[in-house]
Amino acid sequence: MARKFFVGGNWKCNGTAEEVKKIVTTLNEAEVPSEDDVEVVVSPPFVFLTLVKTLLRPDFSIAAQNCWVRKGGAFTGEVSAEMLINLGIPWVILGHSERRQLLNESDDFVGDKVAYALIQGLKVIACVGETLEQRESGATMKVVAAQTEAIFDKVSNWSNIVLAYEPVWAIGTGKVATPAQAQEVHSELRKWLHDNVGPEVAASTRIIYGGSVSGANCKELATKPDVDGFLVGGASLKPEFIEIIKSATLKQNA
Ligand code: PEP
Repeated sequence: MARKFFVGGNWKCNGTAEEVKKIVTTLNEAEVPSEDDVEVVVSPPFVFLTLVKTLLRPDFSIAAQNCWVRKGGAFTGEVSAEMLINLGIPWVILGHSERRQLLNESDDFVGDKVAYALIQGLKVIACVGETLEQRESGATMKVVAAQTEAIFDKVSNWSNIVLAYEPVWAIGTGKVATPAQAQEVHSELRKWLHDNVGPEVAASTRIIYGGSVSGANCKELATKPDVDGFLVGGASLKPEFIEIIKSATLKQNA
């Protein structure tokens, strides 16, 4: 089964209403490959979700950057999966390394969140990735497999999951993984899915790369056989995000 190229833009905790409107205008005016060839999902902060939903072109979609692990209630400051569904937000990013590291979200907790969000009808961009120390000690695959397994343990249907491999050492650092490094981990992750979930899920699950992706470095990464797109942080706030979306055409030609 062909895997449609996927480009996510994680705006993180950035922007004013005016800045957000400017970014959306740039996206709306851009000429990009058709939605048959690339799925584009932008992820504004919670407070701008409705604004972006109102203004954004219909061929692009929206993700929240997080949601609560269970049904809402007395959880001050949290936003539930049900609320996102109620607002018409189809996607959520879960397990981002910034939340794993700064807010101590464990593999188990992320697995629970993914399972609950899927049950509520959200589609999930689930992030995994190793730290520099883990990479240097040769533990990359062990770490990303454990993070993936914690999701596998809780979900039975992978059709609404996009797996984002985001090495922590590459996020926001300008130190992008080489295309060979990304391909190596993506191919190992696909093999993990093959051996643990099944050949169909392995063949159809999009595994996207995140970590200092830019307009300049996306082209070579996009041609790697197991790189099915990108999750983009810093560059998703800039016009070069359009170049990254356009790299979908290189994939078709690869
Ligand atoms: C991210 O936060 O998901 C990310 C990949 O950030 P950046 O592109 O800025 O490294």
